[in-house]
Amino acid sequence: MKLPLNEPIFEIIAQVAEREQVPAFVIGGFVRDILIHRPSNDIDIMVLGKGIDIAMKVAKELGIEHSVTVFKNFGTAMLMHDNWQLEFVGARKESYSRYSRKPIVEEGTLADDQFRRDFTINALAISLNKADYGTLIDPFHGLEDLKKQIIRTPLDPNKTFSDDPLRMMRAIRFATQLKFVIQGETFESIKQNKNRIKIVSSERITDELNKIMMSSEPSVGFKLLNKSGLLEIIFPELYQLKGVEQIDGIGHKDNFYHSLKVLDNISTKTDNLWLRWAALLHDIGKPRTKQFKSGVGWSFHNHDFVGYKMIYGIFRRMRLPMNEKMKFVQKLVQLHMRPVTLVDDKVTDSAVRRLLFDAGNEVEDLMLLAEADITSKNKEKIRKYLGNFQLVREKLKQIEEKDRIRNFQPPIKGEEIIETFNLQPSKVVGDIKTAIKDAILDGVIENTYDDAYQYMLKIGKEKGLKPKNSKNKKG
Ligand code: ATP
Ligand code: MG
Repeated sequence: MKLPLNEPIFEIIAQVAEREQVPAFVIGGFVRDILIHRPSNDIDIMVLGKGIDIAMKVAKELGIEHSVTVFKNFGTAMLMHDNWQLEFVGARKESYSRYSRKPIVEEGTLADDQFRRDFTINALAISLNKADYGTLIDPFHGLEDLKKQIIRTPLDPNKTFSDDPLRMMRAIRFATQLKFVIQGETFESIKQNKNRIKIVSSERITDELNKIMMSSEPSVGFKLLNKSGLLEIIFPELYQLKGVEQIDGIGHKDNFYHSLKVLDNISTKTDNLWLRWAALLHDIGKPRTKQFKSGVGWSFHNHDFVGYKMIYGIFRRMRLPMNEKMKFVQKLVQLHMRPVTLVDDKVTDSAVRRLLFDAGNEVEDLMLLAEADITSKNKEKIRKYLGNFQLVREKLKQIEEKDRIRNFQPPIKGEEIIETFNLQPSKVVGDIKTAIKDAILDGVIENTYDDAYQYMLKIGKEKGLKPKNSKNKKG
């Protein structure tokens, strides 16, 4: 089978390869993606020689020899051209010892290099050589597997997975991204080798998890992780959400499948990875807060707060970023129940102001999460909830326009309270500040300096404080 490689870049590489007498091939994911018409910008070029040398010569041909990134230790080099990211590598032969993830690497043939690849669909190559330019080289029937939409290892899967256990995660990631099925024997082997995942670094595992998270239906991946037994090892907190307990004939919903549904729901609305993480983790505190009271049923009191507390440990272990991304996830998990309680409270202005104050710039994302959280099977119920949330959104907009609560700064600072009543910095200062904030959020006074000043005097008086020199200040 011949494939048209019409992009000029391929012809340039072919010319250099011909001149240098070093056979070159396009290999791996890019070939797979051409065949299934999946957009991709990363091109891997494999040469039977020194990858770095050929990269330098191609770059020279393109007039960009100063912008080649060389990874000497790996024998690879990368360059950017148009929208392409090209990586050059020499053909390799790998062998593994049971006790290390680090392979012994030697120079190899095209076949050696295809042998070391993880799946048949990732082992395809296209020749860039004069004699057979454009010919597909497919030793493991990868093309057939692409047509059948199957993920399968080229060799004995036990060897493939034991050699580099990350491949188990990759199998599940590709199955999720491509909506392919992992072939029976290959999947059985993942089950058998699941414990080998422990030798893989958290960073590499998390990279794959994030790719699963960013796919169009992330639940597929988490269900496969669950079925394979990997979930319990790499993500025990999520695993704990599984199951339905029954007491006195009363059950609760399975919070694992509920969380996955919420994740899928939100993934139709946003590509924000961290909002997706917040969706996955929103109920993570439920197992630790679960209670049954006879006559009342199941409750998960405070699960929002307990869940919020768990995020730090999860992010640290998984090497997820411990910066404002984590804070965002924490905030959303902590506040995820608020919009619902708002609906129940008949959407009072005061409750809406408090939500705006607490959620700040994240209020839109919080509403998306709350809407994604409706997973009832009852269509009527869903319609009713979404309608109520629409009401909340309108209220949020109205009140924000009127009161500007989103990035609310109290109009009276602590220093002014100290100054006015001639106080030392103390608890009473904080109390007065809080009272002013509450009065504004509750709509007792307007969000203006004058109102706040008068209110401060009033509260001070109630607390037996005397202003130094009472004034009627204008703001
Ligand atoms: P994507 O770029 O969409 O993640 P990809 O298949 O290109 O998919 P890469 O991680 O870029 O994946 O790897 C490029 C190629 O290198 C793969 O197609 C595969 O042939 C090979 N490869 C990558 N990682 C491994 C691995 N752990 N074991 C074996 N082969 C691998
Ligand atoms: Mg790639």
